[in-house]
Amino acid sequence: MKDRISFEVEILPQHITFSLEEDFTPIMRFRGKVLSSWAWSLNNSKFDPEELMDKIDSFVNKPVNVNHTPDAVVGYISKAWKEDTDKGFEVWIEGVVWLYIFEEFSDLDLKKLGEDGKLYLSLEAYFKEVECPVCHKVFPANSGNMCSHIKNNGKVIYRNFIFSGVALILPPKKPAIPDASVTVLERKDLSWIYRITPHFLSTLSDEELKTLHNEVHRAYEQLR
Ligand SMILES: [Zn+2]
Repeated sequence: MKDRISFEVEILPQHITFSLEEDFTPIMRFRGKVLSSWAWSLNNSKFDPEELMDKIDSFVNKPVNVNHTPDAVVGYISKAWKEDTDKGFEVWIEGVVWLYIFEEFSDLDLKKLGEDGKLYLSLEAYFKEVECPVCHKVFPANSGNMCSHIKNNGKVIYRNFIFSGVALILPPKKPAIPDASVTVLERKDLSWIYRITPHFLSTLSDEELKTLHNEVHRAYEQLR
């Protein structure tokens, strides 16, 4: 039997350990900016910059999916760091796509992933509180009774948040942060999808496969 390497992918609230054969090679490595500390997203939101700075390391090992499709976990975030600019700082990540796909999803054409350079990132996070950027009052995220500023202009600063992963956004879908585009660092022949996926699956026992599948689905059910 071949040696295996293991690494942990954190899919909140469970921790899942994947085992891959040593000669396994990822299909794509990518790099991209996920957000800028000062910029409002198209959803009229941003993250509290101080808390964001403290939580950059928490991006690492979180799952990467496609188009926010919960069943489509295709990789993980391998690195995260900040880059200072004169307006604040930007958060950058690198990730690996190995295209381990839990279910068939015919509406997504994964063969096109990164092919034409048009690929974007979209953060996945959940948050417990929101702050008003005008009066700076803080409310529970599900409060039905926020200040008039939030009611009128809809702008909120997320606080007390947990990053749960990132989605690769395939056009024509658009990300909430328009300049969060992806640079593909390395890309293999994507005909490998069809060879690697069944091969990788075959390295897991029935029991491991069932556990993995159930854990991921349960984790995502709790995230919704
Ligand atoms: Zn207010």
